[in-house]
Amino acid sequence: MSSSPVIDVHAHASETKALAAWSTREYEVSEYGELGGVRYGTLDGDLDDLESAMARDGIAHAIVVNCFSVDEWRNRSLTGPEQQVEFEGSLAEGLFAFNRWLVEAVANRSSITPFVAMDPWVATADAMGRHLEEMQIAGALGVKVHPVDQRFVPSDPRANRLFRRCAELELPVISHSGPAKGTVAFAEPAVFGALLTAVPHLRLVIAHLGGAAWTQASALAADFSSIAFDCSEIVAWLGAPNAPSAAELVALIRDIGVDRVMFGSDFPWYDPGPMADVVRHLPTLSEGERAAILGENAARFLELRVSGMPGHLHQEPEVDRRIRHKASR
Ligand SMILES: [Zn+2]
Repeated sequence: MSSSPVIDVHAHASETKALAAWSTREYEVSEYGELGGVRYGTLDGDLDDLESAMARDGIAHAIVVNCFSVDEWRNRSLTGPEQQVEFEGSLAEGLFAFNRWLVEAVANRSSITPFVAMDPWVATADAMGRHLEEMQIAGALGVKVHPVDQRFVPSDPRANRLFRRCAELELPVISHSGPAKGTVAFAEPAVFGALLTAVPHLRLVIAHLGGAAWTQASALAADFSSIAFDCSEIVAWLGAPNAPSAAELVALIRDIGVDRVMFGSDFPWYDPGPMADVVRHLPTLSEGERAAILGENAARFLELRVSGMPGHLHQEPEVDRRIRHKASR
């Protein structure tokens, strides 16, 4: 077994346990088809739960991605007082407050790095760009989008302006990827090609290896050598009708390049330990390849400084890295 530190590049956390439990129930994963024995998460999913899961499961570092959905935010107000999150005014203010909550809440949690939400529908590109700058100064290392839940196609001009801003700010973007219900392919791997042609300097991470649209991932990887992938969620569904088998997943990872696939858990839907175990037990990968997927690729691609990570200035606190990063731009 690899002793190299494990980095989880795709975890979620909510403001409260009640809200976490509610939002996890609201978001049902069905794209892979029916499968028995899926190892779902065991915790509600606030930041304390994430830290307990990390300590229990031996995860050295996690990225919390803020997923903002207009529908979810409107529904929050319908589901009882514990779901009320205070913000004044428009949904833009709700998104901004959500992001400010995350960066403040993890400021003293040295093993968690925040990726903040952006949404092309709730604020102008200028306002969203200013907010992203504010968040970057406050400690955000990247951005998360969910084109399906947020109802935008990545190549839409409105979205393009925001992605261009991310590229200018050198903020990597993790995007949900997978098929959507209905006829529009909001987030299948193939649709990211137009975005990457328009914004070639974007440091993009395609989540879930494309989910149930995983067969499109290799072609996108071949066309755009600068992007990376995370294997969150899909590793929980190996063998399902619309998911790869373990052998097919390894073939996909090799096709894309072992150095371009990063481990993610999609906590709290799944716990990081059992998901890392899936990676540890994938057939034919060498110890070095497992260590790359479980942490080294993330440290390199996302420039994370994680204690104990070989080949990095690992004594350097992450906050210093951010300041230096800002100063060197
Ligand atoms: Zn996710």
